[in-house]
This record gives sequence, C-alpha cells and structure tokens, in this order.
Amino acid sequence: MILLEGIDKTYGTGSIAVTVLRNIHLEVGRGEFVAIMGPSGSGKSTLMNLIGCLDRPDCGTVRLDGMEVSQASEGQLATLRNRTIGFVFQNFQLLPRMNALRNVELPLVYAGAAKRERMKRSREALERVGLSDRVEHFPAELSGGQQQRVAIARALVNRPKLLLADEPTGALDTRSGETVLALFRELHKEGKTVVMITHDPEVARHADRQVRIRDGEIVEDTAWRRGGA
Ligand code: ADP
Ligand code: MG
Repeated sequence: MILLEGIDKTYGTGSIAVTVLRNIHLEVGRGEFVAIMGPSGSGKSTLMNLIGCLDRPDCGTVRLDGMEVSQASEGQLATLRNRTIGFVFQNFQLLPRMNALRNVELPLVYAGAAKRERMKRSREALERVGLSDRVEHFPAELSGGQQQRVAIARALVNRPKLLLADEPTGALDTRSGETVLALFRELHKEGKTVVMITHDPEVARHADRQVRIRDGEIVEDTAWRRGGA
C-alpha cells in the first residue's frame, strides 16, 4: 500500500535549514494496522504529510497504492488524496457551521457525487461510527469523541483503502480515545490499511506493528522482529 525509499525532508534553506527526516525506508502492506510513534518534534506529522501526498520529499520515492507519487500529475494526486486516503486529525477539523451529515458529505461533494448518493453514503458512514442519532447535530453540540467519530465517518465516506490518522486520540479523554481506537481496530479487521501516528506508547499498542521514529530516523520497527514487511 505504501512504500517509502530513501526519503529526506528539510524545512527552510541555508543557515535556518532543519533536516526533519533522514533516509526513511518504510513499507506498509495492504490491510496492516501500523502505529508510527515518537516524541513531539520527531518528524511524525511531516512523515504523515508525505505519505498522504500533502507534501513532497526532497529526495527519495513515495509509492502509494502502486502509483509513484513524484511522477503523478496534480490531478492524479488529488484523486489519490480524495479516493484512496481518508485523513483523521487530532483536532477533528470539522466545519463548525455544518451539521454532522454535511461535514461527512463534503468529500463526496468534491468527488462530484449526486445528491441522493451523497445522502445515502453519508448516513451509512455515520451509522458505521455509531452516530445515526446525531446526523443533524453541529460540532459544538457533540462531545470530543463524537466529533472525532464524525471526522472518521467523513474519512470513510469515499471508501478509501488507507486511513491516515495523526494523533487521533490526542485531544480526547481516555474513554473516548478507547472508543476511537476500537473503531480503528474494527476498520482494520474489515480490510482497511490503518496508519496511526501517536506520541503515546499506550495508544500505539493498539496497532499490530509499531514503528518508532526519533530525530527524523526510524529507530525501531516491530515488523523487523517478526521478520516481515
Ligand atoms: P511531530 O509530529 O513528531 O511532533 P513534526 O513533523 O510536526 O513532528 O515536526 C518535526 C520538526 O520539524 C519540528 O522541529 C518542527 O518544528 C519542524 N517543522 C515542522 N513543520 C515545519 C515547517 N512547515 N517549517 C519549518 N519547520 C517545521
Ligand atoms: Mg505531529
């Protein structure tokens, strides 16, 4: 699903240049549930942005679902981001003036789906995350855990193969966090590839594989111990 080879990423130039990722090699197979863990500032979000084609590396190759990202056109990248990947962020990033259903519907609007199809799939996605009774609620009327589940429904509505989550439980209390993690585990069992970024080792334990990064380098990958990937 994901193949990164020889990735470097530097922010800034000249005397203020900071190399954030160094020689990253990472392979994630279809259907894996991987946690990328490491302390704050270690380069996790930068890595997620590269995997999600939100940013480009300085060198190295990114392959996603069989496509070489550096050679893809902007149009192909947009399709990849909209159809292949579902994004989940720490702070939910819901639009406050739209109710749950309309937030979930948005990716389908961008994808050009017809109204009836949008409504059907958005309701299904909200049902999938256990929020059938909250479709008309606005974000401010929902708890943090519920808002994150709306965000997950939005990430699922285009039926992506890959879920990319950056600190998905970072803004949640332990119990809501557990609910979100249980949902990721179910989605993984249903065949989705899940890549979850976290600084919290307790959260990372919910995944099947832990990749640890420190100062921009991968220092541990439990798949190596298993002799896989
Ligand atoms: P993490 O998600 O592990 O906390 P990040 O990938 O967000 O780490 O950041 C890694 C390092 O890169 C940090 O030192 C951060 O300050 C720096 N950084 C992140 N984004 C930028 C940017 N757009 N410009 C300059 N520096 C950045
Ligand atoms: Mg981060």
